[in-house]
Amino acid sequence: MDKVECVIVGAGVIGLALARRLAQAGREVVVLEEAEGIGTITSSRNSEVIHAGIYYPAGSWMARMCVAGRQALYRYCSQHGIPHSNCGKLIVATTPEETTKLAAIRAHAEANGVADMQTLSGEAARELEPGLKCDAALLSPSTGIIDSHTYMLSLRGEAEGAGAAFAFHTPLVRAKAEAGRIELEAGGASPMSLACDLLINAAGLNAPKVARAIEGMPIEMIPTAYLAKGNYFSCSVRAPFSRLIYPVPEPGGLGVHLTLDLAGQARFGPDVEWIDSIDYAVDPARAARFYPAIRKYWPGLPDGALLPSYSGIRPKIVPPAVARQDFLMQGPGEHGVAGLINLFGIESPGLTSSLAIADHVATMAGVQVG
Ligand SMILES: Cc1cc2nc3c(=O)[nH]c(=O)nc-3n(C[C@H](O)[C@H](O)[C@H](O)COP(=O)(O)OP(=O)(O)OC[C@H]3O[C@@H](n4cnc5c(N)ncnc54)[C@H](O)[C@@H]3O)c2cc1C
Repeated sequence: MDKVECVIVGAGVIGLALARRLAQAGREVVVLEEAEGIGTITSSRNSEVIHAGIYYPAGSWMARMCVAGRQALYRYCSQHGIPHSNCGKLIVATTPEETTKLAAIRAHAEANGVADMQTLSGEAARELEPGLKCDAALLSPSTGIIDSHTYMLSLRGEAEGAGAAFAFHTPLVRAKAEAGRIELEAGGASPMSLACDLLINAAGLNAPKVARAIEGMPIEMIPTAYLAKGNYFSCSVRAPFSRLIYPVPEPGGLGVHLTLDLAGQARFGPDVEWIDSIDYAVDPARAARFYPAIRKYWPGLPDGALLPSYSGIRPKIVPPAVARQDFLMQGPGEHGVAGLINLFGIESPGLTSSLAIADHVATMAGVQVG
């Protein structure tokens, strides 16, 4: 049986960032990916926002990885010519009650290390964005947007440049921890058996299923997978905004927000729809809930302007009744299987956090991060 040092399951943005990190640290890396190419699942079905790290619970992995990852990602984009824009975001209060919540949001952001938030009057916010209706707002200057596909291509190129190998159409089928190494079987077009010292499960929505396929992995340590779909609507008219616009969050969600792509095209969403099986179709009827929510801050949204666009599915590891989850990065210290690291629940801000997660997981694996 052939043996390599590291096998990564999944070539989404997390698997790619890890492959780059480990290969550049001199490790021998093979990435197994069941799809035909990189980043075809959740990594290409998101908002492409570089999040500042405002809302996550203080001290959570999400808060820490987001702040560190955001800084690393802006640096990476500048150094590698990845299209991105540090366009900023406004959190807008449209009622006096919402206005009173802005101070707490700002204080929470500051506790997370987001030190550059600015409080604006409604007038000051409209000077920045004349199409906006609001009583007051918070400006987050460090929020931005990124061309995630160019970013992922760059990660792959660097990983391959440092010697990593990618096997597409090659799902991990089962694995077994034995005699200090992990033996695995991959299926697909060219089935193979392989042994490795380090197996990283970065299979996104499938991470719990992949963990269950690893003999010796304690079943009680594997979270249940839940699916929370996020639907997007595009806009047939040009929205008059150059920053991202978010309402004050409501219990259970961030509210219907406006994000922009690098061409300035607006999209609205994602909303939250709990589902039982993977289905990316967007139900046009969901627009009925978007119109009134958007018109609170953009009264100029014309009737009929919203068009069903795309959706992504959040890899949840907590049920709907639990409002918040955190990234779950499990190593041998937690589950007891030498050489295995599982990454569960890597939902937003996973794209923003990708470089920081790669550094953290490399450290968990005993790899020196330069
Ligand atoms: C609606 C939505 C909006 C989001 N918006 C943002 C945002 O604006 N900013 C942000 O920072 N984050 C955002 N995120 C989060 C971000 O998209 C994810 O955290 C990130 O893409 C996760 O990457 P991943 O590599 O873990 O997963 P994935 O991209 O899903 O990659 C996992 C890979 O594993 C492969 N795989 C699965 N099973 C197997 C197997 N058995 N063998 C081999 N390969 C396998 C899959 O084919 C896939 O390619 C959003 C997420 C959603 C759902």
